[in-house]
Amino acid sequence: MSDWKARTTLVHGGTRRSQYNEVSEAIFLTQGFVYETAEQAEARFIQSGDDEFIYARYGNPTVAMFEERIALLEGTEDAFATASGMAAVNGALVSMLKAGDHVVAARALFGSCLYILEDILCRFGVEVTLVDGTDLDQWRAAVRGDTAAVFFESMSNPTLEVIDIAAVADIAHAVGATVVVDNVFSTPVFSDAIAQGADVVVYSATKHIDGQGRALGGVILGTRDFIRGTVEPYMKHTGGSMSPFTAWIMLKGLETIDLRVRAQAESALKIAQDFEGHEKLARMIYPGLKAHAQNDLVQRQLGGKGGTVVAFDLAGGQAAAFRFLNALEVAVISNNLGDAKSIATHPATTTHQRLPEAQKAALGITPGLVRFSVGLEDVGDLVADLTRALEAS
Ligand SMILES: *Cc1c(COP(=O)(O)O)cnc(C)c1O
Repeated sequence: MSDWKARTTLVHGGTRRSQYNEVSEAIFLTQGFVYETAEQAEARFIQSGDDEFIYARYGNPTVAMFEERIALLEGTEDAFATASGMAAVNGALVSMLKAGDHVVAARALFGSCLYILEDILCRFGVEVTLVDGTDLDQWRAAVRGDTAAVFFESMSNPTLEVIDIAAVADIAHAVGATVVVDNVFSTPVFSDAIAQGADVVVYSATKHIDGQGRALGGVILGTRDFIRGTVEPYMKHTGGSMSPFTAWIMLKGLETIDLRVRAQAESALKIAQDFEGHEKLARMIYPGLKAHAQNDLVQRQLGGKGGTVVAFDLAGGQAAAFRFLNALEVAVISNNLGDAKSIATHPATTTHQRLPEAQKAALGITPGLVRFSVGLEDVGDLVADLTRALEAS
């Protein structure tokens, strides 16, 4: 099993069959488990074995299958499945931090991640320093002897800046800090974050792992010690566990994720190449383009794959961006990403609305910026849709 390639692991890894030997993974939609005797119940609360469960908030066979399969793909010893991507980010950070600790994080973060860092952690005496994640000198200047963790999105939302995992990990490890990477935009398919130095990887499974817009979920990946010793006690007692039904959706999502994400990335590259330099655009951002400022890093870190999201910056500002969005006939206006359906988002007025104007400007979230998550539709239809929408803008 250890020498299976990713595609095989994604179909078979972690499978646990019941006494019925079902082909498709069973959904164990149960909150609890019956003990044969009082002695067995007592023993299980002292120490439960690999195939022994107590309560769904602590663990469940369907959830365990998902955890094992995604851990095999990511190359970590273990994983803990969570109710959402934010439960994963919160669980990874809060379970390990304590008052007096220092955290360094990249500034270009998903809004809810910023909320955890800026509004929650500091209330409990954790000091947070934000840096420009692409500037290694800022990381070097920010880490200290008491830095317990560094945190960043390996590819930022929505402007698709790429952060050098190996270089930041070297800087963090020199002071003994744990490297926590939110890897959503890099995707589990193209990620090699653990080999590159990350200690902990988190995903919102809501994105590419489900990939069909059905359920919220998340996962924290790391060493067995970290997952079972640090994360599990925090998550199981605070209620952020994944439901068995969600785990089944995510488990089945993993069977097809490699095919889906590769197809989406291929379409994203074609779209980026076709519209690069278009007269209606001030900028066309896609990490897989040779012209992307960090394309060298994309080659090293992601095997040249730029992911499944592109960003268009319309020269005509917000009015042009709205005309563009309203003219789309195939892609939908929404705010998820990694979905089978192409999804267009106007970050400045939706996902990043809360940010002050100066911060939006600093992060490159201009009034004309549209994030476009490339779906599984025929790429010719998508190009035609985008061509028409750009004309209308
Ligand atoms: C969506 C997202 C999250 C949050 O995930 P939810 O499943 O919505 O809770 C965190 N980080 C990144 C980079 C995301 O894209």
